[in-house]
Amino acid sequence: MFELKNISVSADNREIVTDVSLTLKKGETAILMGPNGSGKSTLVNGVMGHPHYTITNGKVVLEGDDVTNSKTEEKAEKGIFLSMQHVPKVGGLTLAAFLHKASKSTESVLEYYVTLRSEVEEYGINPNLLDRPLTAGLSGGEKKLSEIIQLVALKPKLAILDEIDSGVDVDALKIFFKAIDVLREKGTTFLVISHHPSLLDHLSPDTVHVMSNGKLVKSHGKELAEEILKHGFCGAVDCEHRDTCPAAQK
Ligand code: ADP
Ligand code: MG
Repeated sequence: MFELKNISVSADNREIVTDVSLTLKKGETAILMGPNGSGKSTLVNGVMGHPHYTITNGKVVLEGDDVTNSKTEEKAEKGIFLSMQHVPKVGGLTLAAFLHKASKSTESVLEYYVTLRSEVEEYGINPNLLDRPLTAGLSGGEKKLSEIIQLVALKPKLAILDEIDSGVDVDALKIFFKAIDVLREKGTTFLVISHHPSLLDHLSPDTVHVMSNGKLVKSHGKELAEEILKHGFCGAVDCEHRDTCPAAQK
């Protein structure tokens, strides 16, 4: 349902991601891993059309439609959702008002709010976040909870989650598991960037992709994530530092 074909992405006039191709089937859960600075966030930000990143080569295809040059809001309308690693500060409207607009609901704001509030409560999330600004003034963990509320409210076809688990407490992590499980049952496809062992364990991904130095260097089943957690990236992947990396010699 989703394909990246030979994608290269630049930032600040420098090519950071080179020639990445990957395919996700409908309902698949894929994990994207890689050492810090390997280009994971650059890839997904570029794909979604973040203004600091430019796709310089390749195609992004959603359900057969070439969306490479579509605007970010068009990609979102077509069903792609990106939770950014560094959630930007946005104020001036509440999360509930934002979601009423973003979902293009035909219900009144009040009707929409009442339904959403009870849905949010079912997940065990403090519904008062709906009345707070979208992300401005929220703590790191609250920002990630705001992203999860957006995910469950918008029910995208493809959810790209870039380190949604970073800086969240154990209770919030359980909420994330539940939200992801519910959406997976409904057929949402996931591309999750994470190094969190309990998330990887819980998700039991169909595929694991590894980036190193801006390139996709290995794709495999979930055993690859287990190997990486045990032996580190150099131990699991033929990266260019492998000959000198102590982890690879073990
Ligand atoms: P990862 O998400 O895998 O940790 P990133 O995609 O954030 O890696 O970063 C990959 C490399 O690109 C890093 O060297 C980073 O400093 C650089 N980079 C990321 N964003 C920008 C940007 N907006 N401008 C310049 N360099 C960037
Ligand atoms: Mg990143």
